[in-house]
Amino acid sequence: MDGLTVADAQRCVIAAMKILGTESVPLKQALGRVLAEDVRANRDQPPYDVSAMDGFAIRSTDVVSVPATLEIIEDIRAGDMPRKTLNAGQCARIMTGAPVPPGADAVIRVEDTQAIGAHQVQITVTVKPRNDIRDRGENMTTGEVVLARGTAITPGVIGMLAMVKQAEVPVYRQPRVAILSTGDELEGLDEPLNPNKIPDANSYALMAQVQALGIDPVLLGIARDDPDDLRAALQRGLQFDVLLVSGGTSVGVHDYVRPTLEALGVQMQFWRVAMKPGHPMAFGIAPLTWVFGIPGNPVSSMVCFEEFIGPALRKLMGHTRVFRQTVTARLAREIKHRHRRTEFVRVMLAREDNIWVATPTGNQGSGILRSMALAEGLMVVPAASADVAAGATVQVQLLDGMNFQQDAGGEW
Ligand code: AMP
Ligand code: MG
Repeated sequence: MDGLTVADAQRCVIAAMKILGTESVPLKQALGRVLAEDVRANRDQPPYDVSAMDGFAIRSTDVVSVPATLEIIEDIRAGDMPRKTLNAGQCARIMTGAPVPPGADAVIRVEDTQAIGAHQVQITVTVKPRNDIRDRGENMTTGEVVLARGTAITPGVIGMLAMVKQAEVPVYRQPRVAILSTGDELEGLDEPLNPNKIPDANSYALMAQVQALGIDPVLLGIARDDPDDLRAALQRGLQFDVLLVSGGTSVGVHDYVRPTLEALGVQMQFWRVAMKPGHPMAFGIAPLTWVFGIPGNPVSSMVCFEEFIGPALRKLMGHTRVFRQTVTARLAREIKHRHRRTEFVRVMLAREDNIWVATPTGNQGSGILRSMALAEGLMVVPAASADVAAGATVQVQLLDGMNFQQDAGGEW
């Protein structure tokens, strides 16, 4: 095999990641983070039996035969406390969420009543005891764990945290991520256009991939293919939790990344993966830093991020679902597959007759970034696969959105 399989390389990377510690963040900044502690209810919610409807709190024995006319003895709004006890023939006007008064055992919604002046109401339906009453504590009871450690913080979780007045939220610390591009040929975004140079796309595509996971990376700029310059830049990068180094990981005479990392004490775990694009993908461990050596071709760089680095960052953030969600799709046109590496074909996705249809995004060269700019998914062609015919059922990793799964989706 020409390097590790993708699945083995993913296992190696994921096994090496560990939680970085915890911190507290304001509730307004907690979306997308992962809870580092159990969260318990600090009150019963609702705090007493409350009405589920706008209507009338009644005694169910008073409406056994209908229509029945009842005397209205008070108005109870949400946030009020009832002052009176219902006796036979009496009711209280009550709003959704307001406490049910003593003596009442059911609520009748306003639609099932007819007003008779200001102080009387006619009830037109019979109801069972507890009708339209929400039980005290049905949402949460004091001391109960309402959110477990490890919960990913979604908008619904934010709502729950607000409900228990958790203004500061204990979450796992996010990794600090640095990005370094390498190559004598590279032209920075701020430099004047020189037609002989190659614009540094990778720093920014990688930056955006990191940002999409909710982490703000630091861009270290461009290091030249010179052992001293590279060494100084890598030393800066090794002060972060995660260092992404683009370019220079192959075996060309100017590819100094691997030997320089090793000279700086980084233990390389692998430096080749049997995949296309992305073959010269490297992973190493330093005392403080996980280092990813990423092939310079822009598509390779982005695909390697999706397969290894994104899952690693999500694991560091405390997530258990770290891999892109995989869906089954029908391939729109034939794909040739003549090498023994797992291939990631960039595809667009459409729904037809309730199934996904995957259409390759044109020329799949690893330098053709447009194939990635158009892509909504990565179709996985396993290493041992023959050509894949039009109409075949294939597996596609979804690139958009925040849906992730626990397993990588296949042994490829
Ligand atoms: P390398 O991995 O350094 O051998 O680079 C492979 C190819 O990717 C070369 O054609 C490089 O010019 C190109 N490349 C390397 N780094 C970048 C980058 N940051 N942005 C765009 N292209 C790059
Ligand atoms: Mg290079």
